[in-house]
Amino acid sequence: MNATALSPRMSRVRPSPTAEISDKVRALTEAGRTITNLGEGELDFDTPDHVKKAAISAIKKGDTKYTAVAGTAALKEAIIAKFAAENDLAYQPSEVIAGAGAKQLIFNALLATVAAGDEVIIPAPYWVSYPDMVALAEGKARILPCRAEDGWKLRPADLAAAITPQTRWLILNSPGNPTGVVYSPEDMRGLTDVLMSHPHVLVMADDIYEHLRFGVPFATPAAIEPRLKARTLTVNGVSKSYSMTGWRIGYAGGPAWLIAAMQTLQSQSTSNACSISQAAAVAALKGGRTFMDQWQERLVERRAIVMEMIRNTDVLTCASPDGAFYAFANCAAALGLATPAGKMIASDLDFATYLLEEAGVAVVHGAAFGASPYIRIAYALDNAVLKDACHRVEDACRRLTRPAARKAVA
Ligand code: PLP
Repeated sequence: MNATALSPRMSRVRPSPTAEISDKVRALTEAGRTITNLGEGELDFDTPDHVKKAAISAIKKGDTKYTAVAGTAALKEAIIAKFAAENDLAYQPSEVIAGAGAKQLIFNALLATVAAGDEVIIPAPYWVSYPDMVALAEGKARILPCRAEDGWKLRPADLAAAITPQTRWLILNSPGNPTGVVYSPEDMRGLTDVLMSHPHVLVMADDIYEHLRFGVPFATPAAIEPRLKARTLTVNGVSKSYSMTGWRIGYAGGPAWLIAAMQTLQSQSTSNACSISQAAAVAALKGGRTFMDQWQERLVERRAIVMEMIRNTDVLTCASPDGAFYAFANCAAALGLATPAGKMIASDLDFATYLLEEAGVAVVHGAAFGASPYIRIAYALDNAVLKDACHRVEDACRRLTRPAARKAVA
């Protein structure tokens, strides 16, 4: 046995492409380049003050020890109240769990339920982590491509055609990363109607961007179709809605058998989420969201800045997204063009690399999310910084040229 050999499991997982871009940005910045990172999936707003104060008070009070694995009684109560008030979903304490981010909860749910060969339906474009989590659980990701013409929404007929006896889960993410798609209650009803005919399929509703919407309603499957609640895991968290990505608190509501299994996995891996962050999350969930109106106004301004940049280039197209803080822009018109250095743009990765090197702007290539040729532009940055980055992208796009047609050989 070679001491440095990794387990075969490792061949099924890639490092997160978004984390890789952030590493590249850090390396270029350390080398003296000025890079604007439009690749990062987090808001630049500060965590609200009342939340920070709750954390400081938790430290001072000595809330610094292990807690119950699934979360403190106070946090569970706040989660139950949130689901009841905002989503019309009633859960008992045995039906909710808090973990170190929505990511950990999704991972634990899949690991707890997916057996070798089980299929998990993932509409594409998707959040980068779903397929790798499914692979780590030895399942098969069944990627269902969605179309920009359909607003990136999964069509009920496509869902119905994809379900097999091996289907274990359908993962839905609305508002969605990377497209900003928001399923309306009617869209969601179309999907829940299909699911009602397939009682062996579990439903994962990743609602992490719930509060980041621009004038459109929110719909979560267990609320749209209450008969699905017994086989739906509704996942949410404070990372995006409260600008608390670093605090690492996610939560989920679902059937007690599933929550108990997720708790068992958590008890043998990380145990409880950070006690101080749990106290902060209680303050976030209970403290109201008046600050959110101002955040939304700023995000709408930023979305307009990015959409204007997209219109100003000849190589990008994108419909205005309804939610999250991403624009998923088609870059097909850039393919086949040459950079000033004479390099041909052959893929969305080449285009993203060109923007990083030429414009000093980091974006994530669509292939990372299972759809090409696209780039994901995250616009959660200060308006002035964002405008400057957009101008640099426009200039870089202008410098792309069509290579001279080769003379036909007589
Ligand atoms: N789900 C989606 C769709 C995401 O985009 C992210 C983070 O980028 C997460 C889940 C993870 O959230 P958390 O920070 O709570 O782990």
